[in-house]
Amino acid sequence: MTARILDGAAIARGVYARLGARVAELQDAGVRPGLAAVLVGNDPASKVYVRRKARACGEAGLHSEVHLLDAGCTQEALADRIAALNNNPRVHGIIVQLPLPRHLDAVSILQSIAPEKDVDGFGWRNLGALVDNHPLFVPGTPLGIMALLDHAGVAVEGATAVVVGRSTIVGKPTALLLIARGATVTVCHSRTRDLGQVTAQADILVVAAGKPGLIRDGMVRPGATVIDVGINRLADGKLAGDVDFARVKENAGWITPVPGGVGPMTVAMLIANTVTAAERSRR
Ligand code: NAD
Repeated sequence: MTARILDGAAIARGVYARLGARVAELQDAGVRPGLAAVLVGNDPASKVYVRRKARACGEAGLHSEVHLLDAGCTQEALADRIAALNNNPRVHGIIVQLPLPRHLDAVSILQSIAPEKDVDGFGWRNLGALVDNHPLFVPGTPLGIMALLDHAGVAVEGATAVVVGRSTIVGKPTALLLIARGATVTVCHSRTRDLGQVTAQADILVVAAGKPGLIRDGMVRPGATVIDVGINRLADGKLAGDVDFARVKENAGWITPVPGGVGPMTVAMLIANTVTAAERSRR
């Protein structure tokens, strides 16, 4: 059986369509949701991501600001910029594009974003709330993954789920969301001994390692739902995920493509979080 494709771009369009009514209601009340993206330096991939998010804001009717700081900017200058955005009423959401240049302390910068504007959900207040099952803002990629599973009608409760990757922005929060929905979750990482033996148990397999071709045929249970988060630039310039899509799709139940799977959903969830932040600002 060939897997059905989870078309993240199309599903994201549905998310935007549903957000439209909420944005219109805010505008009737004189509020235009606003997202500020802070980008330090000239990393080409980061620039592409920030541009994509700004474009999505425009298309969804949000106000968007991009704050470009040069690669040598000081910790203090960056912290000052965040403080100004925390106090700017036009801005409901603030994101700092990662990675930051090495001389900057990303952890303390992320903690300085006001929790009610932390629409990436990377601050400890938001991550802690997620651990305690009272999420305020959940990071966009894990939210997008859950929305893809729901769109496909995949039963999460009682499922055996395996997450490959233990990062704070993808692997760990995804595992927490799956646990909260009643899945039995195993988290694998670079020290996991027999990766294929673990992944082959999964009804739901989420892969976020950043290693092209990591998940091959034979490591996936027939009929499993495979969510490929990885984004890897290959030598020929093409983008690829972490999963050997061509082979794995022959036996999986559902599979996400790269590009066009998790990526568009991540952006859509960020926009949704920003609309939520604007709604909360009125209360
Ligand atoms: P990261 O580098 O912070 O974490 C990678 C994780 O993979 C680590 O926990 C590591 O232990 C694990 N890992 C590495 N090699 C492994 C191996 N051989 N076997 C098992 N586990 C292994 O990365 P991240 O920020 O979580 O991102 C992961 C990937 O997802 C990257 O390709 C990134 O570009 C992509 N990403 C995509 C989106 C999206 O919207 N589609 C969003 C965020 C990240």
